[in-house]
Amino acid sequence: MSTTRATYCRLCEVGCGLVAEIDDDGAITRLRPDKDHPVTAGFACNKGLLAREIHHDPDRVDRPQHRRPDGTFADVSWDDALDDIAARLGAIIEEHGPSAVAMYLGNPTAFNATAGPAGGLFLLQLGSDRIFTAAAQDCANKFAIGELMWGSSQVHLIPDLARTDHILLLGTNPRVSKGSFLSVPDPVGRLAEIEARGGVVRFVDPRHVEPNVGETIQIKPDTDVYLLAAMLCEIDRHAGFDPDGAARVSDLAALRSFIGAFPPERVAPIVGIDATTITTMASEFAEAPSASAHLSTGVNMGRHGALAYWLLQMLVLLTGNLDRPGGNIPSTRGTQPAPRSHEPGPDGFQDTPWGRYRPTSGGQPGALLGSMLGDSEHPIRALISMAGNPLLSIGGGEPLADAFAGLELLVTVDYYRNATGELADYVLPAADWFEREDLNTFVQGTQPEPYVQWAGPLVEPRGERRTERDIFAALAERLGHPPVFGPDADMLAMLYDGALAEQGLSMTSLRDADRGVALLAPTDPGGFLDRTTADGTVDGDPAMLEPARRRAVELFDEMAAEPTDQLKLITRRTSHTINSAMQNVERLKKGAGADNPLYLCAADAGRLAITDGAKVRVSNAYGSIEAFARVDDTLRVGVVAMTHGFGNVATTGQPVAQRFPGVNVNALAPVGPGTFDPVSTMSQLTGIPVEVEAV
Ligand code: SF4
Repeated sequence: MSTTRATYCRLCEVGCGLVAEIDDDGAITRLRPDKDHPVTAGFACNKGLLAREIHHDPDRVDRPQHRRPDGTFADVSWDDALDDIAARLGAIIEEHGPSAVAMYLGNPTAFNATAGPAGGLFLLQLGSDRIFTAAAQDCANKFAIGELMWGSSQVHLIPDLARTDHILLLGTNPRVSKGSFLSVPDPVGRLAEIEARGGVVRFVDPRHVEPNVGETIQIKPDTDVYLLAAMLCEIDRHAGFDPDGAARVSDLAALRSFIGAFPPERVAPIVGIDATTITTMASEFAEAPSASAHLSTGVNMGRHGALAYWLLQMLVLLTGNLDRPGGNIPSTRGTQPAPRSHEPGPDGFQDTPWGRYRPTSGGQPGALLGSMLGDSEHPIRALISMAGNPLLSIGGGEPLADAFAGLELLVTVDYYRNATGELADYVLPAADWFEREDLNTFVQGTQPEPYVQWAGPLVEPRGERRTERDIFAALAERLGHPPVFGPDADMLAMLYDGALAEQGLSMTSLRDADRGVALLAPTDPGGFLDRTTADGTVDGDPAMLEPARRRAVELFDEMAAEPTDQLKLITRRTSHTINSAMQNVERLKKGAGADNPLYLCAADAGRLAITDGAKVRVSNAYGSIEAFARVDDTLRVGVVAMTHGFGNVATTGQPVAQRFPGVNVNALAPVGPGTFDPVSTMSQLTGIPVEVEAV
């Protein structure tokens, strides 16, 4: 007889409520949307519903694996693996110091309330601060601006979807990616509601991303920062700033000076939008009864993500839409936001052999990982990758693979032996989200309908899979450190009971609650600036952003000098992938999910004499890859697109992925000193100049 248990999906920020059916043998026989979930109410997507296939995948790593001298892998016992890893870490630290050890945390760590804290504590116990995260590839710009403006990487004001009259969405594709820093089920449906009540839904994207809702202004890639500056400039010149909003900006003159250099008529040829359209966008935003704005990975992953996100806050504030109904509003949280990791002033920056930058949320720039691995004076000698696949997720391509292969110790903790794992000394099998308990910490503060949800383990870990917290506690103990989050500790209560108490909750009450869910009272707009900033104002000239402003001015001139036919490569999200995480799911490899073609519009295809399905070479100063062309007129002229997370030709541990390998588009991403945003550590993974030719 099967049983049914409620849980929630941990693949993306929606966190859809799901119901699992489990048979007497502990197999999960079915996964379906939870219609009775009080918030997600039956919403779920194809990817989440296929997570069961990952749980049961026979290609999963179910026992620790050790790489033999001939490059093949053999199962080893946990004790042998942990003893050897601990001994080798200890020897490296003894000889070279703790900073010779680094850690990489992949995106799924964000949806795992215990893995990140356990890994972070372990690295702290070792004495190293060399931590890399997937955030430097997709969202550290938001973390940096959260820290600058509101004191925490995790404080963000979200569009008031239920009341807004006008929403501006830059670089976001809610149909495919759902929400990011905006945790809402059925985001396309929510946008349609805005339109249905007479509101404006306006996308800004190089690609026509949404077929059914709103309009899309097709911008040139990586230029959103100039559009936002031009909109602010235009509003200041004509409609005027909202007086109350303007009174909340200290040193408004400095902001005016910056945006004044980017009037619509100057910006138009750079952003590829005519000046009249920019002025209309500005006036309609300023004059709407209420207006809200949101930007996401399409902007984050360019070169100006931090400055663009800051300007977006200023646009909202200076039109009177910050913290008001229908504007951008704070949401109630059940857990505490992390404190600032580094000061927002000049002291928060570090001078390093690879340049000066500010480690956002303590994280290092991913674009420097290859440089740090191969450094002659301070190399990283041991790397632990948890729930990550840095070989495919960051730039570097083949040279990065060589650097990984040259490490004294590479350990991956993951579901699969992925592309990075193929180069590892040890691959340690991680329990998945059906096998561990969890709390939806990451989405706290970004939910229009706020709630916390606990999920217990539904089934026993298959094989010898272990939770990350158990793995790091065992390693810590072997290295002489206390296993703070060992198997006997109530880790979630230790970390979160204090904050939950402010909501009248505790881990005990959540574990007893229906579905583990506790709804939180929404925060009424009003008073946010007084509560959050020292004197109720925000700085119009933050020193932290000086390098970003300077970079924006320099790159504007650089872009103005580019050839008019310069192609720019953007990333394209699809409903078949989540980064590199679902590459071994056979059912996602049908049709368009089989590989990652190069998309380009018919006009560019004609100019380059490329036909649909033809093999093409895509290259630039950083690398060269080959793919098949697919003509797609949702792209604007001059823009080509590929999906990242592919490149599994050598990934024997994921046979399905290896049969549908695609190519690693991040081989074309800029890496090394000077190629990342020093304010946020963000890599450039979109808007990359490339050449395309038929082969
Ligand atoms: S929308 Fe996100 S959270 Fe919901 S089922 Fe899909 S992947 Fe999972």
